[in-house]
Amino acid sequence: MHMRILESLLELQAIDKLLFDLQRNMQLPTDAKQQADRIRRARSTMEKVEAQHGKQKLDRRKLMRAINRKHAELRECELQFATVKTIAEYDTLQTDIEELRSSIATRESELLTATQALDALRTGIRERRQQLTDLQTRYDAPATLRRSKLAVLDAQLSELHSKRDVVIHSVDPKLLELYNRTRGRGGIRIAATRRGACGCCFQQLPPQNLNEARHATRPITCDHCSCLVVWDEHSQSKP
Ligand SMILES: [Zn+2]
Repeated sequence: MHMRILESLLELQAIDKLLFDLQRNMQLPTDAKQQADRIRRARSTMEKVEAQHGKQKLDRRKLMRAINRKHAELRECELQFATVKTIAEYDTLQTDIEELRSSIATRESELLTATQALDALRTGIRERRQQLTDLQTRYDAPATLRRSKLAVLDAQLSELHSKRDVVIHSVDPKLLELYNRTRGRGGIRIAATRRGACGCCFQQLPPQNLNEARHATRPITCDHCSCLVVWDEHSQSKP
């Protein structure tokens, strides 16, 4: 009786171990996750720089329009010289013109700074765009590979599930329920006894549990790794 239970459970476990390994294989590798994060960060930085560039361009355009307005005002003032009648009028006009010239000079210097900043931003965007393309290229090749690998693993997964469906019919429902509830290590949920110890974690089993496993009075689980423990006649266990 023990051997038959053990055999069907071990068969089930062999399938579950394969399923466990397969599912772990299907998880995205950490470096791929890091790479995807890096791409996301690079894209967000680039978008920020692009927004900054857009704002800077707008500010520069405003500045140019202001300069043009001042130039128009200056031309108007200069034309007024022809109609000046008094010294006082002449002096006022002269002051206005000086103020306009100084204001134009200040704005032109601001325009120069803005133009330089805009150039720097444009270079920054170009560099970041290249950086992003490089990252994307490096990421895309393994991603394609991963997708094709995943398709193969997916097929293996459904094949294992069908096999599992067949095997569980030969396992006692109560035992199956217990097996499904058991949480073992690395996909191992059932272990044969080994020299009075659990065959999964090799911790010694209490004599009472060992006895019960031997006589199959009730299903025994290991207190240490929570594996389902099945008595194995060939394990030279001490009773
Ligand atoms: Zn154990």
